[in-house]
Amino acid sequence: MDGAEKVIIIRYAEIHLKGKNRGYFERVFTVNLERSLKGIRHELHRTSGRYLVAKFEPDMAEEIMSRISRVFGVHSYSLALCVAADMGEIYAAAKAVAPACGTFKVETHRADKKFPRTSMEINAEIGGRLLSENKMLKVDVHEPQSLVYIDVRENGTALVFGKFSEGSGGMPVGTSGKGLLLISGGIDSPVAGYMMAKRGMNVEYLHFHSYPYTNEQAKDKVIELGKILGRYSGTAKLVTASVTHIQEEIHKKCAAELNVTLLRRFMFRIAERVARRQKDQCLITGESLGQVASQTIEGITSSNAVVTLPVLRPLIGFDKNEIITISKKIGTYETSVLPFEDCCTVFLPDFPAIKPKLSFIEEEEKKLDVEALVEESVRALEVIDL
Ligand code: ATP
Ligand code: MG
Repeated sequence: MDGAEKVIIIRYAEIHLKGKNRGYFERVFTVNLERSLKGIRHELHRTSGRYLVAKFEPDMAEEIMSRISRVFGVHSYSLALCVAADMGEIYAAAKAVAPACGTFKVETHRADKKFPRTSMEINAEIGGRLLSENKMLKVDVHEPQSLVYIDVRENGTALVFGKFSEGSGGMPVGTSGKGLLLISGGIDSPVAGYMMAKRGMNVEYLHFHSYPYTNEQAKDKVIELGKILGRYSGTAKLVTASVTHIQEEIHKKCAAELNVTLLRRFMFRIAERVARRQKDQCLITGESLGQVASQTIEGITSSNAVVTLPVLRPLIGFDKNEIITISKKIGTYETSVLPFEDCCTVFLPDFPAIKPKLSFIEEEEKKLDVEALVEESVRALEVIDL
């Protein structure tokens, strides 16, 4: 087994569904994998429906797998030993991979049909030798506690491994266009961005602040969230816009129960301008039906009414605890719960309208110079490269 090299096998998910576009999806996927491994010495090979990471320092294996596990399109991955396709070598690797005790089963896949033994024969021979050398092991072909996989490849090598680890699934980022995520410092919007990136969308970020009512720490928090999301969605850009003057005007001139509704319409208008400017094809929000007063179907109707771009709300059917579970899994939760003021909480009315009528909203909005306020905010945008 002296010649055994550690490699990582990567299997991909839905790419095979894409028929003629497969080549394109694989190219994007390759770029994303390479990007995730930036700074680590390695070689990436594509072999019959899978990828193989090879030629890395053995002690980098964990770090490589942790990065790979965040790349969308990765269905599963395995740390494997790559040896010469020779029964002695294969056995030595199988012994290294096999459990110390309990039930097991050997499962062989033989791509090289010229290999002098069939899959069944390999299973029997390797399994038999493992059993005879370790009395703590037992074979169970139906419900084994552990598996030893052997993959005899066509190039004279064999891959031996014991475990499939689950990848992030989804589609390679970049294969489903580009969207603009309205990102607050809360729990929901980062999860919404993650969900869209998972379906292959490139995500850019837009954050509204009410400086000086909100502080620099609130902005730093969003920058941090954007960076965490960037691990999944690749490099990204954050645009920030001030809605301070808008909130002051609404507060001064309009019915208090419509504060949130009106502010949200301004956010959507500004977001659409930003999106068109940087060629984002849709807006994305973290809204979930009924979660708060403004997230009713009436609230959604009122904000959709001021834009023509599609607004994607990937969390619309999620419960809060489901969203929290994902945010913990993707690593945004700890940052999201830091207690800094979001602009929405600044002029919050005691009783926001739950089912605002569009005619009433439009009537109240006439008290404001909508176009001038939107213009003012768009003129002062700040762009931050994450
Ligand atoms: P989140 O947890 O994402 O903050 P939320 O439950 O607090 O959401 P709202 O405050 O009603 O809900 O916001 C709904 C959505 O509007 C957010 O998910 C986000 O997409 C967008 N949004 C709210 N506040 C901001 C902000 N300051 N900047 C950018 N987008 C925002
Ligand atoms: Mg919020």
